[in-house]
Amino acid sequence: MSYNPKKQKQHKENVEKAVENAQEERGQVLIITGNGKGKTTAGFGNIVRALGHKQDVAVVQFVKGVGECGERNLLESRGVPFHTMATGFSWNSEDKAKDKLAAQQAWQQAKIWLQDPDLDMVLLDELTYMITWDFIDLDEVITTLKQRPKEMSVVITGRAAHRELKEYADTVSEVRPEKHAFHQGLKARKGLDW
Ligand code: ATP
Ligand code: MG
Repeated sequence: MSYNPKKQKQHKENVEKAVENAQEERGQVLIITGNGKGKTTAGFGNIVRALGHKQDVAVVQFVKGVGECGERNLLESRGVPFHTMATGFSWNSEDKAKDKLAAQQAWQQAKIWLQDPDLDMVLLDELTYMITWDFIDLDEVITTLKQRPKEMSVVITGRAAHRELKEYADTVSEVRPEKHAFHQGLKARKGLDW
């Protein structure tokens, strides 16, 4: 594609018009979904961006509570409130009741933060599967999001976000996998994958 000054000018004008039209100011809901790699890191990227403006943030991780996580090491040491789902969580279906309980506990903490007027941003990492598996009720999530403080933004990550959740969100981005190292036999790597 070659550089076309006419097209660039038109594009610039279109962007300026759109910026002019955007008048409403409020916190927003962003969903980062899809099967490609980069959802959780993008979610934490937003948290770091907010922190860089001295905003107040909190993070709930709806994932297996074992194992290290670089972002958690860093942000917790800076005093960012974190809740990581209880270590009892496993992918073994026999433990479903236990898993649901762990998810519910994480959700109770999320609800507290989603009502906190002092928070500018809340990251709900891997929330999507909790809804898919009925560990957390979709309607309750949407109601809680609707009732959050006006200035609060919420970032939700995870594969297969529910249609209704996507409908409610202000921005939905899908990360599409084109290739992934794992499929070439490469091992997950500290710093890159966790
Ligand atoms: P990241 O945490 O690196 O931003 P993610 O949040 O998009 O990735 P998840 O679906 O949460 O990805 O999966 C977490 C782990 O699975 C990561 O270690 C990631 O590298 C790996 N992964 C992500 N996408 C793929 C894929 N398409 N194939 C294989 N492994 C993947
Ligand atoms: Mg993830």
